Order: sequence, then C-alpha cells, then structure tokens
Amino acid sequence: MKTQTAILQQQAQTDVIFDTHPEISLDLSLVETTLKKGYQKPFLLIDTRIVRNKARRFKAAMPRVHPHYAAKANPDPRVLKTLIEEGVSFEIASIAELDLLMGLGVPAAEIFYSNPMKSRAYLEYAAAKGVEWYVLDSVEELRKIVCIKPDAKLYLRIDTPNIGSDWPLAGKFGTHLGDISEIIEEAVRLQADLAGVTFHVGSQCRNPQNWRVGIERARKVFDEMRAVGLRPRLLNIGGGYPVRHIKPIPSIEVISEVVNEAIADLPEDIRVIAEPGRYLVSDSACFVCRVVGTATRNGKRWMYWDAGIFGGIIEVSEGLRYEILTQRHGPEIPWSIAGPTCDSVDVLMHEEMLPENLQEDDFIIIPNAGAYTTAYASNFNGFPLPDVIVL
Ligand SMILES: *Cc1c(COP(=O)(O)O)cnc(C)c1O
Repeated sequence: MKTQTAILQQQAQTDVIFDTHPEISLDLSLVETTLKKGYQKPFLLIDTRIVRNKARRFKAAMPRVHPHYAAKANPDPRVLKTLIEEGVSFEIASIAELDLLMGLGVPAAEIFYSNPMKSRAYLEYAAAKGVEWYVLDSVEELRKIVCIKPDAKLYLRIDTPNIGSDWPLAGKFGTHLGDISEIIEEAVRLQADLAGVTFHVGSQCRNPQNWRVGIERARKVFDEMRAVGLRPRLLNIGGGYPVRHIKPIPSIEVISEVVNEAIADLPEDIRVIAEPGRYLVSDSACFVCRVVGTATRNGKRWMYWDAGIFGGIIEVSEGLRYEILTQRHGPEIPWSIAGPTCDSVDVLMHEEMLPENLQEDDFIIIPNAGAYTTAYASNFNGFPLPDVIVL
C-alpha cells in the first residue's frame, strides 16, 4: 500500500507534467457584453490577443521550430491576419486556402502544401502560383508532383505512433517504414529534390513521447536519404499540440522539452518547422448557442440547442468532451443533448451533467472552442452558419 507521502509525491509529479504553465481562456465577461447587444444565432467569440499570445508561447517554447499554422483549424481571415502579424507561416490542404493566404499577402514560397493527396488540377494551380514545398507519402504522389513541377521541394510524410491522441490519423496518411526505401529510390531515379521528412502525431495528442519517436524515425530517414545522395534540409514535426478541455494535457513547455532535446544535435542546415492548428486558436474563443427546447422522452431529459453536429459542434462525435457553462446553478441531472436539425446523427451528448432547471432560451457557453468548430459548420436543413465575432 502506498503511503500518504508517496501519493502526494506522485500527484506533485503529475502536476509538473500537466500544469507547468497556466492556460488563458477568453474572459467570460466578454461573452456577457456581447450577449447584451442581442442574440440572433450561434456565434464564436474570438479574442485575437489570446491567438497572439499562443503564437508567442509556441515560439518561446521551441525557438528552433518555426510554426506553420494549419489553416483548416480556423480559417477566419482576421485570425490569419493576427498570425501573420506574429510572424507565423502556414500549411494548406487546398487551393482555396492558398488563395485566402495569398490574398492576405503571404508569399506562396512560404506556404507548405501538406496534404498528402493532391489532385493534378490543384497541383498545377499551386505550382503556377509559386508554391515550392509539397508533401507526399506514396510513389504515385511523388510521380504526380514531379510530372507537374520537376523542381518541387518535397517532404516525405512518414507513419508515426498516435498513441494517446484523441484523433489518431495514423493509417490514413504516412508512409509505412517498410515502404520508405522504395520512395527514396524512385526520387533518386526521377532526380527529384526529396528534401525533408514530416509526420503527424494525431490531433490533441496528450503523449509527448510521440514527437520523440517521430523525430527519431525522421533522422533515420535523413540518413537513408544522404546515403543515396539526396540533400535533406527540412524536418517538419507536424501538428497535434493539445489544448485544455476536460482531460489533463501536457503543456507546450513539457512537449518542447522532448522536442528540443530530440533536435538539439540536428545539423544547422536542417530547417525545423511545425504545423500547429488547434493549439494556436482553440483557447482564444467561446462558442455560444441557445436552448431551443426541452423534452422528457421515456423518463429521460432531452435538450435541443440551436447548434449541433452540423452547426459547429462536430468534434464531440469523435469523443471530444467540452466544458459546458450555463447561467443556471440548480442541482445537476444527466441530459441528452441534440442539435436543431432532424437528422438522427445530430445528437451531441448523452448523460451530460447540467443544471436541471435549464430551459428554452437559456444560453450555452463552450470555452476553448476556437478550433474545428465554425470551420466545419454547414447550412444543413436550412439552419444558419454561426457568426464569427472577432474582438
Ligand atoms: C490538420 C493538420 C495539422 C494541424 O493539426 P492540429 O492537431 O490541429 O495541430 C497539421 N498538419 C497537417 C498536415 C494537418 O492535416
């Protein structure tokens, strides 16, 4: 049996791992001020000062790692502008994202095309606009890119463990270790500039060791590249940096210890970048919606919000649990919660403990919801897209 001190020591250690740096969320009084001006439809309220601070904190934690924001997490132009002002660069998956960024003055040569599957038409467009860096994870994609842009700078996305990530991506993308040599050989044969390695540990990754393993694998691939005369000069450690919701997370400072150590003796001529998405934008915003109505069904209490799976709160369907705030303080009961549409998929949660006295027209406030919410929303069933209000 453990002694009290042993338990306390263990707890202290866990605190060190998970709470080395306070996370700052949007000030809830700003939500109240916004609501006083009236409410028409669900909205995301963003405080760009927090986006700014997260960018600075990311850079301070990993001085050698240049962030390229994954535009998909929140492509609002005002968010993108804030990040541009902070000296952040970008990674894209589509030409619409490319146009958006170029429209804001970002040079194409600094934009990384990190989607491992690109259509020929998109590649031609990106190449014509001046994009230089392209990812690949298969022989076919290598040939496709080289055929369109023979002088492209290429980076290989390798498979890496996604243990402890809320959204494991391994399997969908990433060259399996056994297939790497074939791609390297084909790059040599095509005289392609295979110049880097990337990986993605999975989104909302709570296990810092995944980055260590990814970097170790990348370094082995560099060796393999050099051995056949290629000139590796990019390490892209991808995204996945987690944000606070219900579960404990390692802070960026804790992750940085692992990353900084793993890249400490990397040759100077290797440029190191990362692709944070969620990390830079999530804490900066609150999502606000409203109760449309309540009902009792077979003894269970149901509540319907004016935003659901199609209105921006889709990550719950993959198991993300948000903190949910209301303005009521009664005793709590388990609620089933659904969105406003008539699709059976549009159910957000079951057994969610919330005040029993919640009712029609009450506001629902979800903190740290700046990533992967409004970016996903659709007009399905005729419901409006949420507003994005930027402070
Ligand atoms: C989505 C994505 C990211 C960002 O992931 P987060 O988990 O939001 O940090 C980075 N790189 C690529 C290639 C992506 O597809």
